[in-house]
Amino acid sequence: MVSFGCNEKIPPFSASRRAREKSRGSLAMKIPKTTKRYCPYCKAKTKQKIKLVSTGAKRGALKRGSKQRARLRGKNRGIGNLGKWSKPAQSKFKRKSKTTKKTNIMYTCEKCGKSRYQKKGQRAGKQIQE
Ligand SMILES: [Zn+2]
Repeated sequence: MVSFGCNEKIPPFSASRRAREKSRGSLAMKIPKTTKRYCPYCKAKTKQKIKLVSTGAKRGALKRGSKQRARLRGKNRGIGNLGKWSKPAQSKFKRKSKTTKKTNIMYTCEKCGKSRYQKKGQRAGKQIQE
């Protein structure tokens, strides 16, 4: 049994950060399906579709640090205690400092069909597209 001792008294993230996020309202962010905004190709305000794009890059399957590659190289195989390979995922027992992610939105112009990413992402816990 692994004991965390004093770690259990530490909140998952700092109190000031929690207060900041609380003051902003709910962590969920509602995003409409379409919006009217400026299209630099049409040089006018047009109706644009909104697509939520996942934030962050996916981990490469056979890159260094991947679980699949490690397994192919003989780690996490066999019986008995395999040290770090016998433990659950880090996220399962280690608390994350960041609870929100920046949004990544793609706007597609319905007139010319060209797409652009948003300039700057906003922090949000959850994105809900209506
Ligand atoms: Zn356009």
